[in-house]
Amino acid sequence: MQAMMMHRNMKVADILTFAAEIHPTGEIVSRRTEGDLHRTTYADTAKRVAQLAHGLVALGMTPGDRIATLAWNGYRHFELYYAISGAGGVCHTINPRLSQEQMLYIVGHADDKVLFVDLTFVPMIEALADQLPPDLRFVLMTDKAHMPDSAVAFLCYEDLLDGHPTQFEWPDIDENDAAGLCYTSGTTGNPKGTLFSHRSMVLHAMSVAIALPKALNQSSRILPVVPLFHVNAWGLPYAAPLTGASLIFPGPALDGESLFNLMDAEKVYSAWGVPTVWLGLLGQIEAEGRIPDGLGDVVIGGSAAPRSMIEAFEAKGINVCHAWGMTEMSPVGTQGNLTPHLEDLPLEDRLNIKSKQGRRIFGVDLKIVDEAGVALPHDGQTSGELYVRGNTIASGYFNNPDATADALDSDGWFGTGDMATIDGDGYLTITDRAKDLIKSGGEWISSLDLENAAMAHPCVANCAVIAVPHAKWDERPLLVVVPADGQQVDKAELLALLGKQFAKWQVPDDVVFTDALPLTATGKISKLTLRAIYADHVLPDA
Ligand code: AMP
Repeated sequence: MQAMMMHRNMKVADILTFAAEIHPTGEIVSRRTEGDLHRTTYADTAKRVAQLAHGLVALGMTPGDRIATLAWNGYRHFELYYAISGAGGVCHTINPRLSQEQMLYIVGHADDKVLFVDLTFVPMIEALADQLPPDLRFVLMTDKAHMPDSAVAFLCYEDLLDGHPTQFEWPDIDENDAAGLCYTSGTTGNPKGTLFSHRSMVLHAMSVAIALPKALNQSSRILPVVPLFHVNAWGLPYAAPLTGASLIFPGPALDGESLFNLMDAEKVYSAWGVPTVWLGLLGQIEAEGRIPDGLGDVVIGGSAAPRSMIEAFEAKGINVCHAWGMTEMSPVGTQGNLTPHLEDLPLEDRLNIKSKQGRRIFGVDLKIVDEAGVALPHDGQTSGELYVRGNTIASGYFNNPDATADALDSDGWFGTGDMATIDGDGYLTITDRAKDLIKSGGEWISSLDLENAAMAHPCVANCAVIAVPHAKWDERPLLVVVPADGQQVDKAELLALLGKQFAKWQVPDDVVFTDALPLTATGKISKLTLRAIYADHVLPDA
């Protein structure tokens, strides 16, 4: 029997319309590329978004057109999220940390019509202009006063808005139409595009808001270090206005000192980002001898949050929420805030639970399977490849039939490429990326577990464990360490520490020291690069 309820399309534009009416004074504060701090509200932003939508239509944007952005976290980038999708276009965020080849590929593959660019990236565009499609238009995200002399015919963002009405008749878009596009840099082959729908964006925003009520509410001030140019800043540009939480955008200044000062001045309660960013902030907290005023919550995801990092924040009274997800999941899949009965556990137990990747949010189903695709028990012990299913998860890749054919299993679940266990309480533990596992003598060794343990050594600032080829065992683990400032790390002492927690055959064969670890475009440690660097490393027993 058919129900008798209205059907209304879920649309991205409705979120900002709602925020402007119900949370009009919710703030957007941005560190601008021009250097100053800019303040606005959801009510005023809705007016500018309407003007920008008129400007986009005047530029010739038609439904389904891909409009690209190359920009930091700031209010103009936020405005583009809403104006592009709201008026029927597809907001295609490009990661400026990608290689030139990848960027050129992406712009061509997406068939972008217009590229919106922050001032920082003018030299990049000037260098690439000859190789970009000849009919691509460029808009510089600044005002007239800051327009540079350039060989590229940049239009001015503020000119685009100027003189247009502050109201826009948002079209009634089919909720399954595309609203956003984001490419992930695969480790092999070309980047693949995830094409989000209006429906998936709205559902994702609601699921994230429900899952993280402490961070997402009208009294909260949130600082997304996680970029608008990748993984939709974990859904914050939608979930924050939906709940009325204020957004504090750090622009390009992502070092520990700049983040500390902005958080402190703006009384940020909750800050979201990848572990590498928090290393910088923790260093600044150490230097200042205090935490930023008002900071009470840090969401860590994108790669595994080391236990020592979680402990460092918690020891300062800052709640850590360890989250997991991926671009193809819009991107949030799990969150690790403790339920009230777990809050009372002793610190060690709480840290153990918080080191796991958390529990699924509403709308995301999880399963782990063996190599034959058979579902494995959720016993916290058995590790298998993690598959996901839900309304906010990709069913394939944009204009890429080959990758689409490989994305789902025969039951329609999406393969994440992560290895994981799930325990009886539903806590997910990512044991490794399938391709980062080390296979030694036919047995698997988790690089993540070893890294976590090594990070607990006070002289280790950062580290990674990779496989290096071995004549007898096929692969053996190598520990690559960045020592903490001015510290000497003793190799034998470090291996002895690991020897206490791991079986002898799991302990790395060697330790090498380096000043910095190579990072991917999304701020994760690039194990692919590390494996190439140390491919010929001679292990002590070789
Ligand atoms: P991306 O699409 O760039 O967000 O990358 C997604 C991948 O990042 C996942 O498949 C995981 O391998 C990794 N990842 C994300 N969050 C975590 C986490 N909390 N712990 C471990 N790995 C993570």
